Amino acid sequence: MNEAKETFRELNESFTTKEAIDEAKRCLNCKNPSCKKGCPIENDIPGFIHQLSMGNMGDAMRIINEKSNLPAICGRVCPHEKQCQGHCVLYAKGKGIQIGKLERFIADFDTEMSLIREKLPQKTRGKVAVIGSGPAGLTVAGDLARQGFSVTIFEGQSEAGGVLMYGIPEYRLPKAVVAKEIEKIEALGVNFVLNCLVGKDITVDQMFEQGYDAIFIGTGTALPKSLDIPGNKLRGIIQSSYLLHMVNIFNQNIVERNAVPLKEGDRVAVIGCGNVAMDAARTAVRMGAASVHVIYHRTEAEMSAIPSEYQDAVKEGVQFLWQTSTQEFLGDDEGKVIGLRAATPEGIRDFTFDRVLLAIGSRPANRIVSTTTGIEVDDTGYVIVKDRPYGMTTRRGVFAGGDVVHRPHTVVLAMKAAKQVAAGIAQYVDAVKLLEE
Ligand code: SF4
Repeated sequence: MNEAKETFRELNESFTTKEAIDEAKRCLNCKNPSCKKGCPIENDIPGFIHQLSMGNMGDAMRIINEKSNLPAICGRVCPHEKQCQGHCVLYAKGKGIQIGKLERFIADFDTEMSLIREKLPQKTRGKVAVIGSGPAGLTVAGDLARQGFSVTIFEGQSEAGGVLMYGIPEYRLPKAVVAKEIEKIEALGVNFVLNCLVGKDITVDQMFEQGYDAIFIGTGTALPKSLDIPGNKLRGIIQSSYLLHMVNIFNQNIVERNAVPLKEGDRVAVIGCGNVAMDAARTAVRMGAASVHVIYHRTEAEMSAIPSEYQDAVKEGVQFLWQTSTQEFLGDDEGKVIGLRAATPEGIRDFTFDRVLLAIGSRPANRIVSTTTGIEVDDTGYVIVKDRPYGMTTRRGVFAGGDVVHRPHTVVLAMKAAKQVAAGIAQYVDAVKLLEE
């Protein structure tokens, strides 16, 4: 492994078995567990921790599986400090149970030891197509396969996982972990069709012709937003999501170092201050940037990044320019960016940069909607869905969930919405079959 790749090793160490059991034993098994209330998918946290404290790893895993199809991922990337851990009664005393790390320990233990052999029902309840294999798609597929539906996931990329595989850096979420979680979904009997862009290689109408009873769109927000200011077409201004994608495939030895759009020694600006901005800034540090500045038009208190991500970025040398609003990109005679002009609390200033990374949000691509009649979207391209059956779009039998409906959110919130849609799809397909009979 070369030096740059080495810096992408996972940062947070796992618990050893003894450490995990000792940590689990600290849990008070509260009657009214506030940790569970803080979990968007209401995992039975004290339940699995209690089993773990007694060394019953299989039972702990079974409890987690009741709510989550992706625990090794949630255990790593959920904002635990804002959710379960932040709500633990011991948290205020600075002794909160490290719930995320325990969840991750159980999930990894299960992956290594194959603790659970689930009894799977026959796939006789109906045929469902899932478009997109990110957190929402995998959740819907896992839930429906467990309930006896035959599920096929259609993915445009050459590997499944969506944002989990291409959007989150290796040091936060190793791709081997994502691949193992996907193998578990496959083991539930879910089929994967890769390199298949719905809207181009196959349409929604053709899927119905192939006998699918329902279709789920979980394609997330694939179109990054750009800044509509002078100079925005200069070379060297790129989307953070593109950098993250290229670095992820560089780390997987799919492309060479020179395919990564950032050179060693580059002075880098990241515009935006959410979690994608933190990922891009910390990735730029690892790829050898000489300096990395995050530029944000609001104050520190208003940033949307998780505090721990921000603190880690600061520790790694990322600098922050608060209340700094970019007004224009500056370029040389050859059309390459050399810096930017911004309004700062001290007035208008020019900054020198070799590379600018945009991280100001994203919105849904419209490839599927534009090739399908009857699916309505709002003014900004988000798919409109109903409450009954939950998650159905304005086209009968076509459902949507995750970021493509609810706007960009965390992995676990995409999963939460997807679980509700999976229930809606099951209800709908059952009702249609009943009517047919
Ligand atoms: Fe255990 Fe904390 Fe949850 Fe209580 S709130 S059950 S101590 S993790």
